[in-house]
Amino acid sequence: MKRCFYVVLLVTLIILAGCATGKGDAYSMSLYRAVAPEEGVTYVVGHRNPDSDTVCTAIAYAKLRTALGFNTVAVIPGKMNKETQYVLDYFKVETPELLEDAAGKNIILVDHADYQQAVPNMDKANIIEVMDHHQPAGLSFENNLVYRSAPIGATATMVYNEYKVNHVRIDRKTAGILAAAIMSDTNNLKKERTTEADRIYLAELCKKAGIQKPKKFYKAMKSEGRSFEGLTDEEIMLTNYKEFEFSGHIAGIASVDNPDDDALWEFVDRMDKAMAAYAQKTDAEHIFMKLDADGDEGQEDFTVFLYCGKGAEEVAKKSFPNAQTVNGHLVCTPKLNRTNDVVPALKDTYEGMAK
Ligand code: MN
Ligand code: MN
Repeated sequence: MKRCFYVVLLVTLIILAGCATGKGDAYSMSLYRAVAPEEGVTYVVGHRNPDSDTVCTAIAYAKLRTALGFNTVAVIPGKMNKETQYVLDYFKVETPELLEDAAGKNIILVDHADYQQAVPNMDKANIIEVMDHHQPAGLSFENNLVYRSAPIGATATMVYNEYKVNHVRIDRKTAGILAAAIMSDTNNLKKERTTEADRIYLAELCKKAGIQKPKKFYKAMKSEGRSFEGLTDEEIMLTNYKEFEFSGHIAGIASVDNPDDDALWEFVDRMDKAMAAYAQKTDAEHIFMKLDADGDEGQEDFTVFLYCGKGAEEVAKKSFPNAQTVNGHLVCTPKLNRTNDVVPALKDTYEGMAK
């Protein structure tokens, strides 16, 4: 079983390497030929508090699998955020059904590879495939499965690669939502882990989707996502919230942009209260928030790092020893990135505490 896993991983990496050099169609083999079709319907689902990459890849991958003759349905693990709703509306794509319990179901995980962020009872599901670009964390499998993982900008890039590998034509709408997902996850190709594959595929997808001005589309999509109109403070806090397990501690990390630079500290107070209220409803022992704000004219952008829960202050301060205290809150300059800064720093701190 282990050997098979590595063979599949190797094949994936070879395919992705092929794409990165621009030879997108170099491989014509399909992984599916080696995999016996599962019985009944299979659900493709992303992580909780779904973002555009999670929702759009579930839809696009379910569509591809359906085209290949597998009984596959895209589902979402919870209410979509405004950005994703905008993307689906823009390309006139229907919102998938909700999946609230994974027990006993055939599942394909996209855009995550851990139970903490998965639909409840994922440990009782039959996971048959994983397609993700995060660090794998603690999934256990009894059966053989197709596991695709790559340090790449977006899961959407991997899904589009599957269309190419399987020689399935992508329609305009699906190309559009995958393009939006790549833009969303890479901040329009500006994030550090953006690869050549993300770049080349985004350009191709934009062309197929008729997105003539990608930058303009990206801006419209992001500003829609940033609008907190009609949301409660708790909904704002949860627009981009993920839970992680570090050395036996469950920690939630929210990421929010300050909507109005003039009222930063007022907004910080509201988020503090929302976190305290949410702490009563979640299993997470600690809740953190990275709240990004624009610096004044000529000043660097910064992150206010909020914490909630017993012992959370100590964890936060140990994780960011260079943070300044402003108005009783931790302020980090330059601003933090959740994947590259916050997660590794918290991981180290919790590990250190466990010793
Ligand atoms: Mn995601
Ligand atoms: Mn993603």
